[in-house]
Amino acid sequence: MIDPCSLEAKPLLSLDDALTGIRTAIKAVAGEERVALKKALGRVLSEAVYSPINLPTSRNSAMDGYALSSIDINPKQPFVLRASGISWAGKPFQGELQAGQCIRIFTGALLSAPTDTVVIQEQVKVDGDHIVFPATVVAGENVREAGEDIAKCGLLIKQHKKLTAADLGLLASAGIVDVLVKPKINIAFFSTGDELIGGGQPLEPGKIYDSNRYMLAGLLADPCYNAVDMGVIADDRQLLEDTIKQAAKHNDVIITTGGASVGDADYIKDILAQCGEVKFWKIAIKPGKPLAFGNIGPCYFFGLPGNPVSAMVTFQQIVAPALIQLSGAAANKPLRLMATCTTALKKSRGRQDFQRGILTQDTDGNFFVESTGHQGSHILSSMSRSNCYIILPAEANGVSAGDKVWVEPFSVFI
Ligand code: AMP
Ligand code: MG
Repeated sequence: MIDPCSLEAKPLLSLDDALTGIRTAIKAVAGEERVALKKALGRVLSEAVYSPINLPTSRNSAMDGYALSSIDINPKQPFVLRASGISWAGKPFQGELQAGQCIRIFTGALLSAPTDTVVIQEQVKVDGDHIVFPATVVAGENVREAGEDIAKCGLLIKQHKKLTAADLGLLASAGIVDVLVKPKINIAFFSTGDELIGGGQPLEPGKIYDSNRYMLAGLLADPCYNAVDMGVIADDRQLLEDTIKQAAKHNDVIITTGGASVGDADYIKDILAQCGEVKFWKIAIKPGKPLAFGNIGPCYFFGLPGNPVSAMVTFQQIVAPALIQLSGAAANKPLRLMATCTTALKKSRGRQDFQRGILTQDTDGNFFVESTGHQGSHILSSMSRSNCYIILPAEANGVSAGDKVWVEPFSVFI
């Protein structure tokens, strides 16, 4: 098989080089805003947050049982203490404990001096208010110490963290009600193509329904992004130029699909060159070779290919990391793992390939991946049915069933 990229005048840019170019070009959005904790999920912390209190706030019981002072422990034989009060979670024992006494205690209840040990209720015998403890009691057991999770003034959450549900819980546990986060990124996106119509319109000969805007709206559904759908713009050079110039005035990012290749109606790259700067255009990945990246003043521009699978692959591999960097979030690369490929895969040398696959794991934990079938960049069902990319290096020349391949999972749903 001959890859058309072997006919290119200039060698194509590798994905790694494109990502390096993006890392160099993109600066995190400036400024910050204060938001209520309940509105902060998925937003990016603009400053480190330190705990104003100890977590746990004070020494408390890890179990339901009986609290005692370790002085009263008899390590040689079972011993008896008198139950002289109760410490509930939220309603601590108010009295003073004397030698030879213990208190009934519940999980999360305050453990006040001199008690320092909790014996779980399953290990004691209760005889009226006489509690019989075994000789095996260990001083300090079943106790949560004040500050053992995070000490007062200790780091709660790092700067640049994209806040998760667990983070919100942790911040709330320290009594924090609002946080400083990076501003949202304003993103305008539109489709280009005379053939595109919206849902609900009659399908005239030669027309197709626009799928990319719906896909992009989904991909951009993130608390860090204000994404504005600008509709379909016809293959009209002046109209495209006016639309792009206008959008660049009000947005941090413009994303278009279609018209980025070399056809007579593909104006996107030329408009970018005329109104701003093209940083790179063609990338050695399949699908998704034509991708114009650059900027118009401070507004970053991504001109994605029109074929829906190419648009999605280039979004996930190039635009998504760029938007993460712009949002100010710290992130790792997506996880990749090795799987045994159960189907043969066709590939010609030259470009890194992102084939759509279905990843499964057997009961022994081994990973297997099968192709979704036809890999054309217009076969959107292959994208919809897949749960991972099978990533084949540029120099690879096909895969036989049973070969090991790298996969990048992106969904647990089937
Ligand atoms: P282009 O990149 O404009 O040459 O388009 C490449 C292919 O993708 C053509 O078959 C287009 O009809 C198709 N295409 C472009 N934009 C869209 C879209 N928004 N939704 C579905 N297909 C599209
Ligand atoms: Mg087009």
